[in-house]
Amino acid sequence: MTKEENEKFDAVFKDVGGRYYTDNKENDESFNIGLKQVIDDAEGFIKYLRRSRYVNLPYINFNIINNPTLNACAVLVGDEYYIGLNVGSFLLVNDMFSKMFSNKEIFSNIGNVSLETTSAKKLSRFIYNDEIYFNTKVFESFLPQDPIRGSFSMMLSWLAINYLVHHEIGHIIRGHCGYYKSISYKQHWSELELKQFDNPFHFQTMEMDADSFAVNYAFLSTDNVAQAKADGKTIDYPWNLIYTDIEIFFHYWTFAIYSFHRLCNIEHFNEEETNQLSHPPPSVRISLMMNNILSIMEKRNMPKIESMSNMLVKTIVEAELAFSKITYEENKPDIFFSNHVLSTNYTEKLMRNWNNVLPLIKPFAIAPESLPPPVT
Ligand SMILES: [Zn+2]
Repeated sequence: MTKEENEKFDAVFKDVGGRYYTDNKENDESFNIGLKQVIDDAEGFIKYLRRSRYVNLPYINFNIINNPTLNACAVLVGDEYYIGLNVGSFLLVNDMFSKMFSNKEIFSNIGNVSLETTSAKKLSRFIYNDEIYFNTKVFESFLPQDPIRGSFSMMLSWLAINYLVHHEIGHIIRGHCGYYKSISYKQHWSELELKQFDNPFHFQTMEMDADSFAVNYAFLSTDNVAQAKADGKTIDYPWNLIYTDIEIFFHYWTFAIYSFHRLCNIEHFNEEETNQLSHPPPSVRISLMMNNILSIMEKRNMPKIESMSNMLVKTIVEAELAFSKITYEENKPDIFFSNHVLSTNYTEKLMRNWNNVLPLIKPFAIAPESLPPPVT
């Protein structure tokens, strides 16, 4: 990134904190390295997309926003695209998985769990005015003592952050940002405070679409690893940890993505309340992504769909329990499963609404021909 690009990024996100300086010497060095890695991974992924499928994908100015809340934002300013990831998202996700893996009761089958302690390790999070903050005031760092558990904690953070980044890139590629710019003076597609929309249902449909984009790329990435494995190539970190087969991969992936969404409060589903929302409720988004994984498997005629489905359900139960242990909140997997049933009608409507949204976003999509087809 050039100095000019950094300055432009800073100006675009000035109101919400501006650019976070990843070369700030006051920070812990490993923290700066971690953030730079997020930027490198995002840029690498954007280049890969341009090489493989989206040759017309313009430059995307990706960087970190100096803001302690959980959020990310994609925006089209003039004809330039930007994606900002709040430093709070990175901090919360890393704190969450570090604390899970330093707790010997969570993932106790991984690494040498006897090295971990049983002392209290609470997630440094507080919620104020519907915003989720990383709480620097009470922050106490806990890193897993066992190096293997440390690697797993970094790997789950990597999966969650990648999911968020891919979701934001999805908003650009699928034309959501371009469409939003055409109907609103407020151009920032901000995940937690999207405002100025007339038809929330359309926005919820586009959020579902961005999630589906992220799920598709999670799937495609496993194809590359499976191929490399079949060719007898060495599999590098973190794939050597997470990929034994597709089921193991989606076990970790779903654990990471459920935990990420769980950073927001999980509430009982009420269809009427969705009239006020820019996104489908978090638990519904997870249900939709689980369905997405299973339907991709079905389309590809992959075996063991039922086994994958059972594993996903078990993973949700495990992730909910793990989250309750680091927040001292009630363990309530039942809400997720009852929401899954209660939202059936809503999710069906949401999927059918794709046919209304498709013509709106098509003129702004990077590769209109690769948008998912209408639903029949
Ligand atoms: Zn979004």
